[in-house]
Parts: sequence; structure tokens; C-alpha cells
Amino acid sequence: MSGVEYAYAKLNLALDILRKREDGYHDLRMVMQSIDLADEVSISPRPEPGMTVYTDLPYLPKDEGNIAAKAASRFFAVSGLPPVGLSIGIKKRIPVCAGMAGGSSDGAAVLRVLRRMYAPDMPEERLAEIGALVGSDVPFCVHGGAMLAEGRGECLSPLPSLPPCWLVVCKPAYSVSTPELFSKVQVKKLRCHPDIPGMAAALEQGDLEGVARRLYNVFEDVLPRKYHQIFEIKSSLLGLGAMAASMTGSGPTVFGLFRDHSPAVQAVEVLTAQYPSVYLCRPL
Ligand code: ATP
Repeated sequence: MSGVEYAYAKLNLALDILRKREDGYHDLRMVMQSIDLADEVSISPRPEPGMTVYTDLPYLPKDEGNIAAKAASRFFAVSGLPPVGLSIGIKKRIPVCAGMAGGSSDGAAVLRVLRRMYAPDMPEERLAEIGALVGSDVPFCVHGGAMLAEGRGECLSPLPSLPPCWLVVCKPAYSVSTPELFSKVQVKKLRCHPDIPGMAAALEQGDLEGVARRLYNVFEDVLPRKYHQIFEIKSSLLGLGAMAASMTGSGPTVFGLFRDHSPAVQAVEVLTAQYPSVYLCRPL
């Protein structure tokens, strides 16, 4: 028996940092949304013990350094099921180090496939708890959809997904170091915070305009100048008719929210001429 599963990317519709904790992590409050850009994860048992990951990106780890393999080991260790040797194949479509939880989503997809294959009665909540041992974005990726995420991102409350719309997603050629960005945050000095209760209410009401008005990521406040392309992409998206635009996670990917298809397609055409990774997506 083998299994295949899509691993969907996420966008942060809002990202706030509330405080630095004694353990060195930050308490966050975020609204996360799954989108239809996805890796394809396949799993086949093999006679030899252990896990090997095969991807179309040769620089990604093949062993437990890969979040997909780490998730598989945690699944067997925590569930108490006898470990099975596995080949894990990943067709990567989500850009790496993009703020789109590509690795976490691969880990979550592995957990979903293994549950289907070996523990069909395991509740999704239990699977998410195993996910939390793999990474803080993994529980969200286990469930998908739209969620309010708190703590390090693992405390989740479901929200209705974005109403139908188009998301133009654009990643510059570089990546941003997440630890570098966190080191620049002094919570008391953040100039502005997203209205997350207002965004949650707008999602409850299916009010796209209300969500668009509240898109905001506090990391944009502390981005070093060298990442100016992020602001250039935002300006381009707004100039091309986006209702709003924001960076996702710790960047560098930026997305614009469009009500209508044809300006979104035009934005993709314009940005594709300048940037390496541009996608037209829909919320799930
Ligand atoms: P997040 O939005 O959760 O902060 P990200 O999109 O910035 O994540 P990822 O692409 O998920 O970043 O992960 C990037 C890092 O994780 C790289 O250092 C990469 O080598 C490592 N990694 C391990 N497994 C994977 C995987 N399956 N896919 C992508 N990156 C992986």
C-alpha cells in the first residue's frame, strides 16, 4: 500500500508579535490561509528500515533533516506503531524559504498519509499534536483552511476561509533569515499592529473588502533596507489593481488580493517579467 497527498502552501493574512517569552520564542497572533499552490508527497513502504526522501530539488535534505522524514519518525515514535521503512517522494512546487510553510506542509502531508495507511482511527487533533513536535506551523498544515494561530503558531482556532478571490504570489530571488528578522523586533517599538479580531469578523461575514483592509504583517516594520524589493513588489501589486498586498511569514514572498480574475492575470504577466517565482492562486 502506498499513498499520495497534496501539501498546500499557506499565506499569512495577518501576523502580529505579542511578546518575547522567557524561553526565547515569541508569542504570535496570526491569521493563516491555505492556498492551492501545493507540493505532491508520495509514500511507499520499503523492505529496508529507516526513511529516505527523494525530491526534485537536490539541495534539500534526504534524511531526518527533511521535515517530511522527521514527521514520519515522530508518527511512529508517538503512536507506538512498529516503525516501517519508507521512501518519501516530494515534487516541490512551493518555493523554499519563502514564508509559505512548504516544509511544514510536506511534514503535515506525510502525517496525513501515514494516518490513512496505518492508523485510520487516529483523530485529526492527535495528528496535529504529533505535528507540533515536528514544527510550529505543522499543526496548521495538518488541518488547512483558515485559522487563527496563537502561541508559536500551534494554538489554533478555525475561521471561515477567504471568500472567492485571486491571490497573486510573488517571491524575489533571495530569502530572508527568520532569526535575523526576529532579532530586529522590539515588541514595544512596533508602530502598528493588525486588527486581528476585525479580520476574523470580516472572514465570518464573508467580507473580502474588510479582510483586505486589515492585511498586515508586523515584520514589514523591521525589514532591513537590503530587502527593498519586497516593498517594490507590494507597490507593483497595488498599482496593478490589488485590493491590498502584504508579505507572508518572515518573507520574502509578497501576495496581492484581487477580487477579479483578469487584473490578477495581468499582474502575474507583469511580475513574471521581473521576478523568478510568480503564481496565480486561490484560497482553499
Ligand atoms: P515557514 O513559512 O514555516 O517559516 P519557509 O517557507 O520560510 O517556512 P521552508 O521552505 O518550509 O521555509 O523550509 C526551509 C528550510 O527547511 C530550508 O532550510 C530547507 O533546507 C529545510 N527543509 C527541510 N525539509 C524541507 C522540505 N520538505 N521542503 C522545504 N524545505 C525543507
